[in-house]
Amino acid sequence: MRQEQNIILIRNKHKLFMKETKLDQITSQESSLILNTARKFLEEEIYPYEEKVDKIGEVPIELGKQIEEKAKEAGLFAANLPVAVGGGGLDYKSMSILEREYGKTTHALHSWIARPTEILLACNDEQKEEYLYPCVKGDKRELFALTEPEAGSDVMGMKSNAVKKGDDWILNGSKHFISGPCLPDFAIVFAATGEDKTNRGTRKRITAFLVNRGLKGFDIREGTKCVSYRGYKTFALNFDDVKLSSKMILGEEGKGLELSGKWLGMGRIWVGASCCGKAERMIQLSSEWAAQRKQFGQPIGKFQAVSFKLADMALGLRAADLLVKDAVEKAERSIMKDEDAAMVKLFCSEMVNKVADETVQIYGGMGLMEEMPIQRLWRDSRLERIWDGTSEIQRHIISRSILRPLGA
Ligand SMILES: Cc1cc2nc3c(=O)[nH]c(=O)nc-3n(C[C@H](O)[C@H](O)[C@H](O)COP(=O)(O)OP(=O)(O)OC[C@H]3O[C@@H](n4cnc5c(N)ncnc54)[C@H](O)[C@@H]3O)c2cc1C
Repeated sequence: MRQEQNIILIRNKHKLFMKETKLDQITSQESSLILNTARKFLEEEIYPYEEKVDKIGEVPIELGKQIEEKAKEAGLFAANLPVAVGGGGLDYKSMSILEREYGKTTHALHSWIARPTEILLACNDEQKEEYLYPCVKGDKRELFALTEPEAGSDVMGMKSNAVKKGDDWILNGSKHFISGPCLPDFAIVFAATGEDKTNRGTRKRITAFLVNRGLKGFDIREGTKCVSYRGYKTFALNFDDVKLSSKMILGEEGKGLELSGKWLGMGRIWVGASCCGKAERMIQLSSEWAAQRKQFGQPIGKFQAVSFKLADMALGLRAADLLVKDAVEKAERSIMKDEDAAMVKLFCSEMVNKVADETVQIYGGMGLMEEMPIQRLWRDSRLERIWDGTSEIQRHIISRSILRPLGA
């Protein structure tokens, strides 16, 4: 397979410099190899299509498939999953480099470079054949379906439920805002399968199911369009007495939240890294504009009111990058906590929105013109404070970690 050849090629190169360099140099050479691969890929396969996709609000299927194929050739496809299951086997540090680069562009396009949901690693052997391996090869696409019309931030308020009937489960309920590049082959659906008594009161038992598109009673259709990342699709899912066998449970019955929590934590780090990438792109655009655009006979960057904005933007980005680095290092050592991920998500997403707003300000009226990329990056940035848990929910997680040990 071409993708495997590419990965082997990269590894062989690593072996070469392992002979002659120290460990930290290997790491930095490996990082620059990954960075250069991602940059070249974006320049050739993604940036040329950004504007058109934003304008038509759609990624033509041939373009999506082309990105998929080129990503396989470049060794970028499913790079997040272990080599043992056919993935690229990149560690968290390498993935943070990739996600930071991808953040410079739109989800509508870079989501075609699949990074299958890591919770699929919880598949048993039979499920691996049907779901995990096809996703790694690009033969199937999945969606991660947690949010419901009446249960967004309040996950435990979910109404979707599955009731045991003989050996089967009967699923009812609905999901919305479930996003992906294209119509999926199956969805990982979270539903209540009962209640548990805990010392904090009664708690819903949440179970994750693998639900194939096409099953009787499972309706999936495109949802309303989002102004961030135009062309990236959201879907509305409806379940009406959908019969599921016990074999469709992912992981253990009642352990769905633990599974999703594990995945959401790293997801928040990737959001943070991607916000850093987007901020870097906007800072570069703003700096170039501030150096070129003249008013009152001089570049606007000569006015302290403008140059100080650039200083604050650069400082915000530096701090955000360091937070991502810190969390990635903790994740590598398996000591990352919920509040570490929440701090990254909160700080980076708020930082990129400040940068986006100041970028528009530095561009003046031109920043809002359709033919400029600024308004697109500004619109795209806005979603980052909402998905994967809003800023308010991240503050809640952080403050809870401070107060709970004190009994409050
Ligand atoms: C484009 C897009 C793609 C998405 N993709 C997916 C996906 O693939 N899978 C998936 O499962 N979900 C997905 N989501 C859903 C996303 O995670 C939710 O939108 C998000 O969690 C917020 O939920 P909500 O929109 O229902 O807002 P709500 O929960 O209704 O919140 C509204 C406001 O109230 C605030 N609020 C709520 N509760 C509290 C509280 N306790 N304290 C303080 N403030 C509070 C919120 O912070 C927010 O400001 C996507 C959303 C979008 C827009």
